[in-house]
Amino acid sequence: MYTFEEIIGHKEIIENLKRRIKYKKVSHSYIFDGIEGIGKKTIAKTYAKTLQCLKGGVTPCNECSSCRAFDSGNHPDVFFIDTDKKSLGVDDIRNSIQKDIETKPYKYKYKIYIIEKADKMTIQAQNALLKTIEEPPSYGIIILLSNNFKQFLPTIISRCSILKLNPLKPKEIKKYFNNIDKNIDLYIAFSGGSIGIVKNMLESNKFLDIREKMIEWIYKIQEDDLINLFEIQKEMEIYKEDIDIVLDLMYIWYRDILFIKEIGNNEYIINKDKINELLNMSMNLSYNKISKSLEAIANTKIYLKQNANFRLALEIMLLNIKENIHG
Ligand SMILES: [Zn+2]
Repeated sequence: MYTFEEIIGHKEIIENLKRRIKYKKVSHSYIFDGIEGIGKKTIAKTYAKTLQCLKGGVTPCNECSSCRAFDSGNHPDVFFIDTDKKSLGVDDIRNSIQKDIETKPYKYKYKIYIIEKADKMTIQAQNALLKTIEEPPSYGIIILLSNNFKQFLPTIISRCSILKLNPLKPKEIKKYFNNIDKNIDLYIAFSGGSIGIVKNMLESNKFLDIREKMIEWIYKIQEDDLINLFEIQKEMEIYKEDIDIVLDLMYIWYRDILFIKEIGNNEYIINKDKINELLNMSMNLSYNKISKSLEAIANTKIYLKQNANFRLALEIMLLNIKENIHG
């Protein structure tokens, strides 16, 4: 439906946008910046809908012909520019904005262009857009959505109102997913504060599959056979592309064990749905050993970021964890 009231979090940004409407300080160009899935498009759409609403309030009326056209997905004066290509080229900008913005709105107050993944614009595309941003018609509004606004030319940045969307708080994300029968805390820990990232994770089984694998490896490490380590290492190599997720899952697993050791089963445990496994493991490990394992995992993340040899870095980590368990 797109109303500001339905949007979770981002209160300051919403207040900022409402004030602009109320005091007639609407800019012609904006950058909405923030990580994937954090709500940039939802906020941009709601702002566009409000600006076009015939009642002229600070939130859409949901009843006028403009609001209804918007909700049906066929608003004649709101345009979305998106691309599946690697970059957004100069022709895309020329054809979809530069020429089109010269003709007056079909029916409503503004012509609003929302450019998704705008940080994919080539330098030439940005230069083409700049001409429009420098001298927009009175009815023209351009909203750029980006994951990293620093990709834009300084001349673009200086002409736009920049609204930076911060990561959502865990409790805000939880509120959004309150009907889901899954251990949402685990997903939130990997979301970077983005509802969209949690949604993507919930849609695929990959994330939970990796965790199952990881738990299997940790059990194997605890067994006394050295040969296991090389098997685990080989298996881990299959997950090379997702190694950050693997290491973070391992880290959170040992961190959960540490919490259980300190205060028993508690609300801060992230792998709540695996409490029996965690309790079991916590009985066989000392604080010192758990801390050393956490350190080994954290160091491995750093080594891999510095482009250390992948196989060797894993080997050292596994040996360190194993040594700490049996040493
Ligand atoms: Zn309306």
